Amino acid sequence: MINFNYLRVSTTKGAVDAIVRDSAAQWIAGGTNLIDLMKKGVMSPQKLVDINNLPLKEIKKEGNKLVIGALALNSAVADNELVRKEQPLLSLALQAGASAQLRNMATVGGNMMQRTRCPYFYNPDMPCNKREPGTGCGALKGFNRMHAIFGASDKCIAVHPSDMSIALVALDSTVLVSGPKGDRRIPFQNFHRLPGDLPQKDNTLERGELIVAVEIPDNKLNKNVHYLKVRDRASYAFALVSVAAAVDLQGDTIKDVRLAMGGVAHKPWRLMEAELFLKGKPASEANFREAAALAMKDAKGYGHNNFKLKLAPNTLVEALKTATGKG
Ligand SMILES: Cc1cc2nc3c(=O)[nH]c(=O)nc-3n(C[C@H](O)[C@H](O)[C@H](O)COP(=O)(O)OP(=O)(O)OC[C@H]3O[C@@H](n4cnc5c(N)ncnc54)[C@H](O)[C@@H]3O)c2cc1C
Repeated sequence: MINFNYLRVSTTKGAVDAIVRDSAAQWIAGGTNLIDLMKKGVMSPQKLVDINNLPLKEIKKEGNKLVIGALALNSAVADNELVRKEQPLLSLALQAGASAQLRNMATVGGNMMQRTRCPYFYNPDMPCNKREPGTGCGALKGFNRMHAIFGASDKCIAVHPSDMSIALVALDSTVLVSGPKGDRRIPFQNFHRLPGDLPQKDNTLERGELIVAVEIPDNKLNKNVHYLKVRDRASYAFALVSVAAAVDLQGDTIKDVRLAMGGVAHKPWRLMEAELFLKGKPASEANFREAAALAMKDAKGYGHNNFKLKLAPNTLVEALKTATGKG
């Protein structure tokens, strides 16, 4: 691990200025991802700007939106009464992530910004276009069991690892950011990006833009929800495939539904076509299977991860069955 300077800031402007001033500086929140990456030589910021003193921990209602500060801890959000009552899908997704100790350190902003867990990215001796553009993608023809089945490119087939983000994209959230050019709102759906020719860029933030909060609009999706995460171990493991499902059920009819998948793409993968198909239909296994077939139509395996082509639709059907009480 390299030597680095350390600066603690207490205002958003101070945090933004510190990063804009120094191209080798990087913010640190809980440190649960960044410090690991520094220890492994994957990232080497020369200055860490500690943002933990910023007043961004609040979880509150503003009009018809739930607003969650970027520095709210993953455990605090998961346990928060408002979140559990109004957006239980988010609480479930957070509880499925990492371990209790990690959730007590990890922040909302840091969770969204965490880097992929692709082993080629984590090993500086291996080729990886995301870590070092132009070196190739080791996973494309290498060991790719954890990798993407949607939206990958010949430059990168890594997946985004956050559980929380799968619920947030399903819930039509918005990311509030503050940067050198002022404040900006980014629909969660457009926050993370697909790899294309620029796999080194995980998201659409510009240099110096700080996440200050995430907003979730009111919905009627708080009764029939489920977050199903399939992984190699029951705890402390990233998703092979996960599904966030929230259904507004009236009698046996699906009035509204939100669906997203994790562990399958470079970004949290919203399943709009499957949602559209299910709206207005009875909550039945046959309909869930048809929706899953629609969701999978552009999927592609890379060898070791071909099992996801079956696992993903099955996980979607199981999540919907549990969410609607048909399981
Ligand atoms: C063993 C292990 C298992 C894990 N398992 C899971 C899992 O199953 N599911 C899951 O979802 N996660 C898992 N995680 C990841 C964990 O959730 C993340 O490490 C954590 O959420 C990162 O948050 P942090 O506050 O510690 O970020 P940090 O490590 O402090 O920062 C990460 C990145 O975010 C940037 N950043 C932080 N805050 C902001 C902000 N407000 N605005 C802009 N940029 C910001 C930093 O500059 C840095 O680049 C696991 C981690 C470990 C170590």
